[in-house]
Amino acid sequence: MAVKYRYEEFAWPEIRQAAASHRVAVIPVGTVEQHGPHLPLVTDVLTATEMSRRAVEQIPEEAVLLPSVYYAFNEHHLDFPGTIAVEGQTFIRYVTDIGISLAHHGFQKILLVNGHGSNVPFLDVAARNITNHGKSICAMVPWWNLVPRDLIARLRESDFPGGMAHGCELETSVLLHLRPDLVQMEKAQPDFPSQKSEFFYWDLEKPSPVFFQEFFSRYSRTGTSGDPTKASAEKGRLFVDAVVGRMIQLIRELRTRHIEPRIDHH
Ligand SMILES: [Zn+2]
Repeated sequence: MAVKYRYEEFAWPEIRQAAASHRVAVIPVGTVEQHGPHLPLVTDVLTATEMSRRAVEQIPEEAVLLPSVYYAFNEHHLDFPGTIAVEGQTFIRYVTDIGISLAHHGFQKILLVNGHGSNVPFLDVAARNITNHGKSICAMVPWWNLVPRDLIARLRESDFPGGMAHGCELETSVLLHLRPDLVQMEKAQPDFPSQKSEFFYWDLEKPSPVFFQEFFSRYSRTGTSGDPTKASAEKGRLFVDAVVGRMIQLIRELRTRHIEPRIDHH
């Protein structure tokens, strides 16, 4: 029988066994928000969840896949219909509580796999909260950070910075591979901020030097930021396969990482 890997399908003795086997708890975190006229609201949940699922499915004895966190912080997208925004402190608290529960059940290694750019500062805090809470450690990775640099360099056709930001060449390619039925390519169009800037831009390949986020409707007409017309299912396949491969490496390294004892120097 295939080894179970979906957390919610376990019975409690199986959870006790999974924690005792040092399986890494993998939690996909997305958001429900507009992604332009051509992509579904669920884009960030879908990417984080499916990449995580594919990784855990290949190493089921080493990890468990938690149910995804759907809602997150994205007040800046509210000018477009569909976005569900959760206040920042609520979101941090919610994710922290999930991690603390897992730690309570004996999972020592927890990985948050993030699918939404604006989740980064909040999930960083949540991961630190979980780690600071006790014996377990928690790390967070945005999936696009796992795309190998040389693969981006080889496949990317949109301008840097800005071509890969939101509902862009990268996200649209991934969706064309994972769920082509949800992509309306005939509605995709490039959308770049009218103000060129050395310091204020958005790009998933490399973040701008300055942290800054204003209301999306101030710089995007369509809800997209970047160039989805450069997307393809083939690029999506290469991106997803590469991310899944590196996520497996990451899970394995986290699993074997030694948690050193704290030393109180008072
Ligand atoms: Zn997105």
